[in-house]
Amino acid sequence: MDIVYLNGHFVTRDKAMISPDDRGFVFGDSVYEVMRWYGGFFFDMDGHMNRLRRSLHETRIVWNDIDTFPDLAEELVNKNDLGSDCSLVYVQVTRGAAPRNHVFPDPALSPTVFASVRRQSVDTLLWERGIAIAVAPDPRWNRCDIKSTALLANIMSLQEAHDNGFMEVCFVRDGFITEGAHSNIFLVRNDIVYTHPESNFILSGITRKNVISLAAENGIGLAEERVAADIIPYIREAFITNTSGEVIPVIRIGDQILGDGTPGDITRKIHMLFREKVMAGDPVH
Ligand code: PMP
Repeated sequence: MDIVYLNGHFVTRDKAMISPDDRGFVFGDSVYEVMRWYGGFFFDMDGHMNRLRRSLHETRIVWNDIDTFPDLAEELVNKNDLGSDCSLVYVQVTRGAAPRNHVFPDPALSPTVFASVRRQSVDTLLWERGIAIAVAPDPRWNRCDIKSTALLANIMSLQEAHDNGFMEVCFVRDGFITEGAHSNIFLVRNDIVYTHPESNFILSGITRKNVISLAAENGIGLAEERVAADIIPYIREAFITNTSGEVIPVIRIGDQILGDGTPGDITRKIHMLFREKVMAGDPVH
């Protein structure tokens, strides 16, 4: 049975009713998080909670009970009998329901808080094969650091990439690579891994942060520096990161085949380190 959480209650999905006046529905006035449950613990729940707090702060959405979420998420997993499976927990917090008006309701409303979980293991085939990613102009707003549910630009770009046989899109803004539609991008040149620095033009990925720490701890050269799109022809290897896929090798960017067209050595090394970190996860939380 699919049990979801809505505003303080666990209910079956078909009983979860949200107002048509909800600002999340009307304006995309809401933020979200996705965290991975590894059959006994969440990976870097603290990282996800900090990012959710930041998204709420930046959008001025107030969720007073936010500290209850880690326990609530685990309860949700258990209620869905997914305790020993790999799954993804989704949580969305909207500014609440009120007659349509761009200005925030005054006084502030209780937010709408929704969470659900679905079984999803990591796609190991992609780790072996790698993926092709498209290159496209970054059409998004300049607050990509907020994990907003208003993802129309991301989904339009990703759909176009999919229609052309690519699994992700490499966004380019002002001549520089930013990130993907649902992942962060890392490019390897002369044995140094480059990724866009934290800024308002990327989402600070939890997987990205962990990869950066792992590289530092293991003597892998990594620079948080912007990479110009016109050096793509000189890139030997690349990978993307996100919660659902971990570290996914990229073997082609647009028409450009990277290296010998198989996942690169540094990518494999980083992914192995990431896997080890996951395996060492704390089964309590
Ligand atoms: N950038 C964007 C635009 C994303 O949607 C995601 C996935 N949430 C990421 C990066 C990767 O973030 P994370 O590693 O926290 O899943």
